[in-house]
Amino acid sequence: MTKWVYSFGDGLNEGRAEMRNLLGGKGANLAEMAANGLPVPPGFTITTEVCSAFYENGRKYPAELEAQVNEALRRVEQSMGLRFGDATAPLLVSVRSGARVSMPGMMDTVLNLGLNDETVEGLARSSGDARFAWDSYRRFIQMYGSVVMGVPHHHFEDVLEQFKRASRVEDDTAITAEQWRAIVADYRHLISTHAGTEFPTSPQDQLWGAIGAVFGSWMNPRANTYRKLHEIPASWGTAVNVQSMVFGNMGDDCATGVCFTRDPSTGENIFYGEYLINAQGEDVVAGIRTPQPMACARAEAGQHPMETTLPQAYAELLRVRSVLETHYKDMQDIEFTVQRNVLYILQTRSGKRTAAAALKIAIDMAREGLITQEDAIRRVPASSLDQLLHPTLDPKAERVQLTRGLPASPGAAAGAVVFSAEECEARAAKGEDVILVRIETSPEDVHGMHAARGVLTTRGGMTSHAAVVARGMGRVCVAGAGSIHVDYAAGTMTIGAHTIAQGEWITLDGGTGAVYLGRVPTIAPALSDDFNTLMGWADSVRRLGVRANAETPDDAATARRFGAEGIGLARTEHMFFGPDRIGLVRQMIIADDELVRQKAIAGLLPFQRDDFASLFRIMAGLPVTVRLLDPPLHEFLPHEEAEMAEVAQALGKSVEEVRARCAALAETNPMLGHRGCRLGLTSPEIYAMQVRALIQAAVIVEKELGKPIRPEIMIPLVATQAELATTRRAAEDEIARVLKEEGTNLNYYIGTMIELPRAAIQADKIAEYADFFSFGTNDLTQTTFGLSRDDAGSFLPYYVDNGLLPRDPFVSIDRDGVGALVRLGVERGRQTCPDLKLGICGEHGGDPDSIAFFEEVGLDYVSCSPFRVPVARLAAAQAALATRNRVGNPA
Ligand code: PEP
Ligand code: MG
Repeated sequence: MTKWVYSFGDGLNEGRAEMRNLLGGKGANLAEMAANGLPVPPGFTITTEVCSAFYENGRKYPAELEAQVNEALRRVEQSMGLRFGDATAPLLVSVRSGARVSMPGMMDTVLNLGLNDETVEGLARSSGDARFAWDSYRRFIQMYGSVVMGVPHHHFEDVLEQFKRASRVEDDTAITAEQWRAIVADYRHLISTHAGTEFPTSPQDQLWGAIGAVFGSWMNPRANTYRKLHEIPASWGTAVNVQSMVFGNMGDDCATGVCFTRDPSTGENIFYGEYLINAQGEDVVAGIRTPQPMACARAEAGQHPMETTLPQAYAELLRVRSVLETHYKDMQDIEFTVQRNVLYILQTRSGKRTAAAALKIAIDMAREGLITQEDAIRRVPASSLDQLLHPTLDPKAERVQLTRGLPASPGAAAGAVVFSAEECEARAAKGEDVILVRIETSPEDVHGMHAARGVLTTRGGMTSHAAVVARGMGRVCVAGAGSIHVDYAAGTMTIGAHTIAQGEWITLDGGTGAVYLGRVPTIAPALSDDFNTLMGWADSVRRLGVRANAETPDDAATARRFGAEGIGLARTEHMFFGPDRIGLVRQMIIADDELVRQKAIAGLLPFQRDDFASLFRIMAGLPVTVRLLDPPLHEFLPHEEAEMAEVAQALGKSVEEVRARCAALAETNPMLGHRGCRLGLTSPEIYAMQVRALIQAAVIVEKELGKPIRPEIMIPLVATQAELATTRRAAEDEIARVLKEEGTNLNYYIGTMIELPRAAIQADKIAEYADFFSFGTNDLTQTTFGLSRDDAGSFLPYYVDNGLLPRDPFVSIDRDGVGALVRLGVERGRQTCPDLKLGICGEHGGDPDSIAFFEEVGLDYVSCSPFRVPVARLAAAQAALATRNRVGNPA
């Protein structure tokens, strides 16, 4: 016969912590605590398998369930010396749901079940406290009425409020037994009018009603949505826990509370929590009375810490705190009740915590010897480090949300709205905090983005220009907020009823994508020693190298500060927009006279040489991968009349001629157009200049630092072997010329991005001409899906919300499609060249789940934006540990 019910408490403990799948988290931990001698009121758990059977059999329970429940209930009666439904000494129970993982949206708790007009009198007599009995009864009706019978909770509140006003009572604790009796009658009337049925008076009916409500709530729409979002299979089911009541509302020697074995917001090893005298569980969270602190050390003047009011129970709780933490080896969130000075534990689970607390607790516990260093590495969610590196919104601050876009670059920032990069720079120069709002950004806006506190766009996805550049700079970015209408001419943005003019303030939360009205206060990040300790531990176990995508000295310096082991991608096009260069770049593109063109290119060379030299200096011998120019030339063209006039004058042409040239260069689909190595092949002199500048810079810095500098030259958007072979030959010819002129020698590498499906498929051929591959997973995702990285924002969220895609593939690698191409590229590349160096420099290089994949396929390094370097270091360590465990070779 299948066992559907597991007892716990009072010497009969049929479950254990490991049985979480069968008993749910709550049930498994109750059994574990009871088995370890902790004061847990007796009860039983109806298994998650009952839930599955219930749904498989058209909402019918297994035949043996009722008998098993009755038997378990009898055992609870025996151990409590009470009888369920007995009119003289009634047993009351709580009924609570408990899935494998805690799941909001389901029925949670019904307390005091078993009360009716008769048993309430019995409870009054046996406790000697009629007020307590009637208070418990009204609580039960209220809870049962709302969570089981579906009467909205606020109706009960209304009845109570009305009563208090009419009777001039302020505090619930001042309501007498007689008054509660009257309120109970009103509640029952309320239920029969709203639910259309009477409140059940038979304790057996009440019990099965509550059990049914728990199982029913497993499939309610809120629970379904939550499960979908968190990828929890419906087949897991929930368990139901039925447990003898203990009472925190029996008088001033009774209490109820919630505590954490360590501070969940800072992680300090301080006992932390709240409790209320003479109260039941829900009062602590309901906010009707102000909960009091646990420890004297945490109490302020006028407060009544439990340490002084209930010293005996407090001492016992301290003991439990230590037992539970030692047992579970993690910070615990504990619910307890004190009945007549005796402590009972009703729940324990791993406590939720902030990123800062997760870090501190992991490090402290490893130092205390409670967990290993490797456990500590696993315990801190890698993505949560983002919270530690950027300002965050003050959780206590009031806020009005205007809209939501994509959380493109983390952190929080407030500032005055501006609509152009120029205005942004001008205001920032005067010390103003500014938020740059654009429909989308282009390389021209980079200087404005740099000056801004944050960037908001109405179009574009997670790898759009705004997202990638902001992330690289560590600026907050909310991208693709499609409900905002920007009117550049009027200098306004409109969201529903709100119109915000230039100069008015908004606040961005780049961690959630929320946009708020006005200035919401933020909290600055503070990096602790613990952070460095964890990073050190992570570095000692990871296999993957971690580099940064950086091209400005600022970004490169940030990258090093965060522990980058080199630069995996310097996008040289980002260097072309400085006010001192853009004119030359435009002349280079527009000139039709070869001499004028060569002069413009030659004019750019010293700028590039200086750019590269400063990267080499900052990286001091670490690898630096410089990618030759990638985007289509039209991105650099002038748009404004004044800019056109400037170029026209420099080239001795008319504005009309310049305009015509610009029009001729425009492409319908520039992302698939004349960019990357295609540009390098048709205009070889641009790449030649870049290669020359790079080699000259390396020679200079090598002499300066007295250590070898080994530049890595990367060719973008290669699809065929011939493209790479030709571009490589041209680069090598230029390098040979420069080295001859300099009279020196230098080691260098020439490699390619693998960012087109054809390149991945042809990786064995391409590897014949490459010293390294770097997977460009942004373009590879774009081209594999045929999904524009700049336009996907308008429909990708729909895909994710509706389960058409599990996640945004520009954020987390699509293992089955794009990932399969990466795997193929790795295998075929290494077939040709077993020691081919392999990296990834798309945005996925900073995403923990993607990093786990790159570890699996055996890449050598990941490269990500500087602020994500710590995230990548930790994620790489976690991935390495997971791989070791999988191959059964624990370190
Ligand atoms: C890529 O495509 O993944 C990449 C790193 O290059 P970019 O984002 O500059 O196109
Ligand atoms: Mg690319």
